[in-house]
Amino acid sequence: MKKTTYFLQAAAFAALFLLPSLLLSWGFWAHKAITRQAISVLPAEAKAFFVEHADSISEKSIDPDLWRRHDDKEGNRHFIDIDNYGAYPFADLPRDYNAAVDKYGEEQVYKMGIVPWRVAEMMDSLTTAMKARDKKLMIRYTTAVAHYVEDIHMPLHTVVNYDGQLSGNKGIHSRYERWMLEAHPEDVLASIQPNTPQYIDNARDAAFAWVLDSFIWADNLLHADSHAKVPGKSYSSREDYDSDYYAKLYQNTRAFTGLQLSKAATATASCWLTAWVNAGKPDLSGL
Ligand SMILES: [Zn+2]
Repeated sequence: MKKTTYFLQAAAFAALFLLPSLLLSWGFWAHKAITRQAISVLPAEAKAFFVEHADSISEKSIDPDLWRRHDDKEGNRHFIDIDNYGAYPFADLPRDYNAAVDKYGEEQVYKMGIVPWRVAEMMDSLTTAMKARDKKLMIRYTTAVAHYVEDIHMPLHTVVNYDGQLSGNKGIHSRYERWMLEAHPEDVLASIQPNTPQYIDNARDAAFAWVLDSFIWADNLLHADSHAKVPGKSYSSREDYDSDYYAKLYQNTRAFTGLQLSKAATATASCWLTAWVNAGKPDLSGL
């Protein structure tokens, strides 16, 4: 019995390290760091529940990436290939989901990713859970909101060329969001400086605005990758990307990476605050 449990734990542990190669989001380390920073800026009157469960909320902010293992619909809830819809600011795509489906068909809309609508859906679920003071559901939806909002702020979650596969930058997704960040943990953590969260009138529209903000960095990131490589050197396997490469990639992306991580934390805190206000500002202490 004990052996089986140990084996299952070992398998789950191994799976955690295999998952990032599936290009699901920020790396796990980054998600947890952003979520922790989001808790820190909540106003005192809304903060108690989040502080009380800070470890759990931070740890579980990666859960939507794990849901994908049991739900083949999950993957497309983490991104939107917004540049599939004409030119910036991609007004071809109706922001209303039903109007988008009427125009493109449900299959196509789903295929291109649905993260802004997913954020709005999770905000509604979180609001309902807060009204009911349902601790289990509150943690589930608090972490889900955090995850999808954070994913939006990763620039490659907003473009068709999400892994540099169309521009000679294949593999940049995990090199950037995981290996580069984890090679500079102290500096990255210090760069996450969220602002005071704000009430959000319309979660869907806010999510689309974050998509556009994030999108503008995607090209910079691809150029930074090309620029970080030594001309003439072969980069055929992950081992070819050495510490010099990651140092240069970080140097070339540091400013907007800090900005996006900080904005992700501010946006996450703003969503939580908004759900709490919309739930009627319930007293969530002691849960
Ligand atoms: Zn994700």
